[in-house]
Amino acid sequence: MTERATAPTTPLRARAEVDLAALRANVRTLRARASGAAVMAVVKSDAYGHGAVPCARAAVEAGATWLGTATPEEAFALRAAGLDGRVMCWLWTPGGPWREAIDAGLDLGVSGMWALREIVEAARGARAPARVQLKADTGLGRNGCQPGEDWAALVAEALRAEADGLVRVTGLWSHFACADEPGHPSIAAQLTLFREMVAYAEGRGVRPEVRHIANSPATLTLPESHFDLVRTGIAVYGISPSPEVGSSAELGLRPVMTLSASVALVKHVPGGHGVGYGHHYVTPGATTLGLVPVGYADGIPRHASGTGPVLVDGKWRTVAGRVAMDQFVVDLGGDEPEAGTRAVLFGPGEGGEPTAEDWAQAAGTIAYEIVTRIGTRVPRVHVNEAPAG
Ligand SMILES: *Cc1c(COP(=O)(O)O)cnc(C)c1O
Repeated sequence: MTERATAPTTPLRARAEVDLAALRANVRTLRARASGAAVMAVVKSDAYGHGAVPCARAAVEAGATWLGTATPEEAFALRAAGLDGRVMCWLWTPGGPWREAIDAGLDLGVSGMWALREIVEAARGARAPARVQLKADTGLGRNGCQPGEDWAALVAEALRAEADGLVRVTGLWSHFACADEPGHPSIAAQLTLFREMVAYAEGRGVRPEVRHIANSPATLTLPESHFDLVRTGIAVYGISPSPEVGSSAELGLRPVMTLSASVALVKHVPGGHGVGYGHHYVTPGATTLGLVPVGYADGIPRHASGTGPVLVDGKWRTVAGRVAMDQFVVDLGGDEPEAGTRAVLFGPGEGGEPTAEDWAQAAGTIAYEIVTRIGTRVPRVHVNEAPAG
């Protein structure tokens, strides 16, 4: 962070306000939807851009009993901040910090034999067995162990290591490919294969604490996928996994991040005036232009040039011309808001502002990417940090 907020009201070039009361409410909503399964709040990639440690704390306060990260480094950062509950991380590469992860009591996602062998080596001489969670590829075609011989070998190796006291198999898990498209035939196929792969492992003697496959969309649409634990990311941040699953409001979720900037300049220009690099916008007549001091270095997608929506002084305006590295311009149509007026790029939508989903549509991407990509130059201002009552 190169700019610091001392208080939410401090004037700033730009800020991403993160409403932790909304986050806690979302976690409670997800717990109620999870059919008694435990909730893991996925806080990878700095909590999808919202700030990992404050979001993790708030999620735990609201009853999330697991935290999930992609990388071990993200998990270590949670431990360093004093988050001492269950933390799972799943994105490993050879030579990873296994011993540190075992000593930190992390749950380690294991997708292949090379990883299990490195864990077993690292666990020799450790204070406690490594907690491993075997990941099945039930159809995503990404990380995870293939069914059949590969799964049989991984399960057998894990049981041997468990018998030697070097590992404890705490979980069996998988991940959906198309849960954000309810009714997609791959969903039922993955569930069936997951049940089979779990049954195989349990039949050989694996006694997992948790079996899990559901991400946010599955948690919200598919109760039979909940098993013992659901791994929710985007929904914790109040954003719908996809328009097909429903809007945030329909799902009972409240977007947590509000991205705003302080209008840096308002000026009159004549008609026919080119705006920004390449002159991709030319004023259709005499008008006023407003300079919004955030750009692609702050995570504003350049693909939203000419399309991204912004609320300025009660009206939706559209990015005029190209998004540059540090700034973009909106045509204010003759209005003259003062410099310093707050331009809201996205938020919950309750004050008439666009949402991250609107930006996703404008940029041809998903709302996950809109919030996650907000740059480190934009300070995160956490509000409602203390739980009420
Ligand atoms: C990111 C991630 C999740 C969370 O997905 P959402 O769609 O954001 O809920 C769950 N599990 C794994 C393995 C992930 O990588």
